[in-house]
Amino acid sequence: MTDKNTAYRKKRKRRKTKGAKRQEILEASLIVSVAVLVVAILFFGIHTISKHIKGKGEESGSGTERTERQLYTPRPDLDVQLLTINEYSRPGIAVNEINGIVIHYTANPGTTAQQNRDYFEGLKDSHKTKVSSHFVIGLDGEIIQCIPTAEIAYASNDRNKDTISIECCIEDETGRFNDATYRSLVELTAFLMGKYNLTTDDVIRHYDVTGKICPKYFVDFPAAWDRFKEDVNDYIKKNGVTESEDNTDQGAG
Ligand SMILES: [Zn+2]
Repeated sequence: MTDKNTAYRKKRKRRKTKGAKRQEILEASLIVSVAVLVVAILFFGIHTISKHIKGKGEESGSGTERTERQLYTPRPDLDVQLLTINEYSRPGIAVNEINGIVIHYTANPGTTAQQNRDYFEGLKDSHKTKVSSHFVIGLDGEIIQCIPTAEIAYASNDRNKDTISIECCIEDETGRFNDATYRSLVELTAFLMGKYNLTTDDVIRHYDVTGKICPKYFVDFPAAWDRFKEDVNDYIKKNGVTESEDNTDQGAG
């Protein structure tokens, strides 16, 4: 009986040991699984974060590239006829920084650049309204400068304080710029982009500031607006140089 008992106990003990071992293995594999999961989560997290940081780096990298690749195009011929300083069209307020170029149309079919410039000048006496523009481009492609770019013009509402304005004359109600006007607009925009280290992302329509239908053709036909910016970039690629040649500023630039 004693022997039998001992044998039984031994058997039980062995069984118990076997069970405990199985439990240990189970626990061990559970720990390993959790560890693997934690490592996987950590790895994925780090991968995602590093990817994010890398993406940011690439962004700032393209920003650097933009500065490095800044190209200058020749200054187009400017007919400088500065307005008299007055509170209706040339307030004489200094601009702190230029962050954009705003394109407009005169909304006045058939009028010349000279007539539009003289209208701005006349406001000092007529007091009819407050309006002006740094530049007016005429139907023959002539460019009249009315206000130095170091001063604000009354053209683009909230963006008067940090943009340069360009008014374009039009032949008819469609508001489409003729070839001569368009060519000068491309050249002047490209020149100003070089001068103020801007890209076509900084070239906007009056419409983009206030929602006003101006310049009409580029609001009616967004594809024409995109095409204009492509034409400016193409012009810069073809004619741009790495050194600014703008040393003939006449104090009006
Ligand atoms: Zn406008």
